[in-house]
Amino acid sequence: MATAGKVIKCKAAVAWEPNKPLVIEDIEVAPPQANEVRIKIVATGVCHTDLYHLFEGMHKDGFPAVLGHEGAGIVESVGPGVTEFQPGDKVIPLFISQCRECRFCKSPKSNQCEKGWTADRYDVMALADSRFTCKGKKVLQFMGTSTFSQYTVVNQMAVAKIDPSAPLDKVCLLGCGICTGYGAAVNTAKVEPGSTCAVFGLGAVGLAAVMGCKAAGAKKIFAVDINPEKFEKAKVFGATDFVNPKDYDKPISQVLAEMTNGGVDYSLECVGNVGVMRSALESCVKGWGVSVLVGWTDLHDFAARPIQLIAGRTWKGSLFGGFKSKDGVPGMVKAYLDKKVKLDEFITHKMTLDQVNDAIELMKHGKCIRTILSVSPQ
Ligand code: NAD
Ligand code: ZN
Repeated sequence: MATAGKVIKCKAAVAWEPNKPLVIEDIEVAPPQANEVRIKIVATGVCHTDLYHLFEGMHKDGFPAVLGHEGAGIVESVGPGVTEFQPGDKVIPLFISQCRECRFCKSPKSNQCEKGWTADRYDVMALADSRFTCKGKKVLQFMGTSTFSQYTVVNQMAVAKIDPSAPLDKVCLLGCGICTGYGAAVNTAKVEPGSTCAVFGLGAVGLAAVMGCKAAGAKKIFAVDINPEKFEKAKVFGATDFVNPKDYDKPISQVLAEMTNGGVDYSLECVGNVGVMRSALESCVKGWGVSVLVGWTDLHDFAARPIQLIAGRTWKGSLFGGFKSKDGVPGMVKAYLDKKVKLDEFITHKMTLDQVNDAIELMKHGKCIRTILSVSPQ
């Protein structure tokens, strides 16, 4: 490889400051250090968590950064000590690592590896260290991945090797949204056959949750969104009933309780709004109802009446759908290749990296499910 061991200059979309459009810049990407892998990003999705950091979280120490965490690419070179990857391997960078050694990796109960940026900096959403510079300034790697760049460097514990026949412009979605929603239903809620479910928020994450509920054998799946344009897609993934909270003048939890003889067995919040989180909890049935927080927010406390839990409901959260990342992602890629999970149906727009701000605007206005950006020629 002509580029191995050298600094690569390439294009990336840099978020210089919160609440401003991204700027396509020439950045320098340093060679991988020990245990690191440098990846040519071929394609990336745009996820709401990118928008959250830019417009909602806006933590001043989290900028400048290269956003994007739902990508797929090809290994360009590897640093010392890397034996698991070789140049040319198809990979998905992971925003949650799997070191296989920490207390959390050793437990089958969790995917919360204690290495990587999630360990200490949820607010900044990046590690202090980065292999990116631009105009002489260090640029942070958002969620450790930064897929809005033609090249990125990731520790091998946060990279999944995938089937060489996988189409990167589709399976990139497994780097975040689809594993997140699908796994929240299957792994975290553990939806049972014959059950009744409600999914709040029908972006890619919510639609993937609908797909997970269906795969787990749910008999009724309520799709809840304030944007009725989302309902048609929800049907494609298996939703059976459609509810727009704006159509009712009573709380949506009451509406759902009336439709289900007391509440759903499982509810999943895929919006990132603490008010909706409470509604989702209150929509599930007392006795055994399980409500899962999937939507991302760290700005407000949430609230609920203790009696909701005393009466036997369970409230839990799910990061990356509960998948242990390195093990789970190749399995989901295989499930896609075996036609057991859908991906193509999530893709509503295709653009190039230099149109990233248009893709962000589409999502902001609820006009897309997923836009795939082609980042580097393959
Ligand atoms: P998206 O913007 O595409 O979808 C959000 C949907 O919620 C939209 O359809 C919107 O109309 C709907 N919505 C907004 N307010 C609502 C309300 N009051 N009631 C019902 N529906 C409402 O976003 P996405 O990419 O699908 O991401 C969804 C959420 O999941 C975000 O908060 C994102 O940050 C989060 N997320 C979490 C994880 C995780 O690991 N937990 C991973 C990825 C994304
Ligand atoms: Zn995401």
